[in-house]
Amino acid sequence: MLTYPTHSSLTEEIIQNYQVNKALTTAEICHLLSHKPKEEDQLLFQTSRNLTTQYVGDMVHVRAIIELSNICECDCDYCGIRKSNEIERFSLPTDQIIQTAIDAMKMYPGLLLQSGEVKSQAYVNKLVEIVKEIKKLALIHSPLKENFRVIMSVGELTQSGKLIQIIKGCWCRTLSLKNRNFKSQIIQINS
Ligand code: SF4
Repeated sequence: MLTYPTHSSLTEEIIQNYQVNKALTTAEICHLLSHKPKEEDQLLFQTSRNLTTQYVGDMVHVRAIIELSNICECDCDYCGIRKSNEIERFSLPTDQIIQTAIDAMKMYPGLLLQSGEVKSQAYVNKLVEIVKEIKKLALIHSPLKENFRVIMSVGELTQSGKLIQIIKGCWCRTLSLKNRNFKSQIIQINS
């Protein structure tokens, strides 16, 4: 088990290291979650606020969400749609996703496409076609036109450089937060 000695400046030290490395180790995350004396709360909260402001500004972003599929190849313990959980699975057909996206873009400034992680090239290709179609349709149906935002939460895409390249020209983010390595990844294209 990974442990840290407890002393009052450790939280500060972890935060300072994060500012330099832009990453936290598993042990550091465990410390922040489990060892949080009252006097250090404000430091954590302020750091959290600063990061939020840095990445998304001082505002709330409202987006529609479409859950594309609850099929996932991963088995994260906390997740209701993990592979080993015996639940009914679904995957929306492309035409239904597109029609729902059209309805959403008339009312919302952005859209989150959500699904489990599927590594097959066929699924990546499907995502690419969906994003391209949505961005094209936004020029017609969204009051924001090319500024209509598409965010994707579809698992880790480290192996899917192709996805990122193929949708180059679209404004899109992929975001993944996994328990297996505590790694958060944000890739922004042509923002
Ligand atoms: S990769 Fe995402 S969807 Fe799949 S089990 Fe993990 S948290 Fe759930």
